[in-house]
Amino acid sequence: STFSLALLLSSIPNILSQLCMILGATSLYDHFSVSAHVLKIFAYLIPFAGLVIDYARTHLIDQRLLIELEQAKQVAQAESRLKSEFVVNVSHEIRTPMNAIIGATEILRKENRSQEDLKYLEIIQNAGGDLIALIDDLLDLSKVETGHMKIQKRPFNIVTLLRECLQFFEFKCAKKGVEISLDYDPKEMSLVKTDPMRLKQIVLNLVGNAVKFTEAGSIKIVAHIDHSKSQVQISVEDSGIGIPADMVRKIFDKFIQGDSSISRKYGGTGLGLTISKHLVELLNGNISVKSELDKGTKFTIEVPVQIVAAVEATKISLFENRPPQLSLKISQKFKPKVLIIDDVEVNRDLVKKMMADYSLEVVGAESGMAALEIFKIKKFDLVMMDLQMPGWDGFHALEQLREFEASSGRAKAKFVAFTAHAGADEI
Ligand code: ADP
Repeated sequence: STFSLALLLSSIPNILSQLCMILGATSLYDHFSVSAHVLKIFAYLIPFAGLVIDYARTHLIDQRLLIELEQAKQVAQAESRLKSEFVVNVSHEIRTPMNAIIGATEILRKENRSQEDLKYLEIIQNAGGDLIALIDDLLDLSKVETGHMKIQKRPFNIVTLLRECLQFFEFKCAKKGVEISLDYDPKEMSLVKTDPMRLKQIVLNLVGNAVKFTEAGSIKIVAHIDHSKSQVQISVEDSGIGIPADMVRKIFDKFIQGDSSISRKYGGTGLGLTISKHLVELLNGNISVKSELDKGTKFTIEVPVQIVAAVEATKISLFENRPPQLSLKISQKFKPKVLIIDDVEVNRDLVKKMMADYSLEVVGAESGMAALEIFKIKKFDLVMMDLQMPGWDGFHALEQLREFEASSGRAKAKFVAFTAHAGADEI
């Protein structure tokens, strides 16, 4: 360091100063003693200067390192944002034609078809559904990895949630001859507060895997609420194929599947458990697995929750998870007019075809600008539109149509927007 060098150098004025002292003592001139003092001061100043230089140097290096680190962090964040945007964009691009494929297949299935046709249409629809599920998984993974997955905690009934998960797979299990059950102690149960959507996503994934990998036997879902620890424990146990011991540790890693024959036989992407683990951790909980090859697998999650007091619980509807039931009652005389704005022709056709079952008058427009021209000469009760369109996007189209309504004194039509964009910030 500069300090050591300065210490060494300071010995020169030190020696010279000693020399001056000796000479001063034998000489009549006292300028030797003045020089001795000046040299002594130098001898002290040099190491001090060394210290200052050393400090300034390390401090500057620290600063430079900090700046470089900050720059590297910003680059990494920008790249991760780009990756996330890329996944969202690709998912949008895939979702649009996928919806057209699934929608068109649905329409074809409604028409009189032979058994053979129906079989192939079902294959197309199932494959389409699998692709949409894959896009959803990729989107979720990109959201959790970039910290965009939002947690929304609210009180809910855990039994209702688990029953819904079970009902989702009941038909599939019955078809396979696998028994599925839900077990809990009613005395333990109460309303709890955490994010029900995410918890449901985790349980659905675990039960989905159990159903997928179990050919015979049973699937047991068991729930406990530990009131003293304020924690919910849910386990999903199956009597399926099990996971080889060397794979159990890696099972939560991205794109990991039991072995290559698994993906060939059962499909899937190896993303479900990765997402589930991320989600459990977002809820501050943990997930564990026990498995024995050819015997079965048991996944257990523990999630901290707020136990909602019984008094408070009576005020909360137990069925708050359920979406409101829609019913469409249209009188024969009234024929509502619907305007569909979408740049993709097949989408406009699909919506028209789907609405043909109801007594509706449907007109399509391929852009916001074209829609405005139609809107000016015809009154509509409902406007349905895509959000992402070339030229005017959905928001701009809405503004223009609303402006026309305001300036012409026309009553406001109802607007419904649809989008394949699935980012939380876009909903
Ligand atoms: P995917 O099911 O899409 O392949 P997951 O991440 O959900 O992806 O699961 C990863 C792998 O873990 C599966 O491919 C399978 O090998 C194994 N696995 C998960 N759950 C079970 C289970 N209940 N029984 C046996 N194997 C399982």
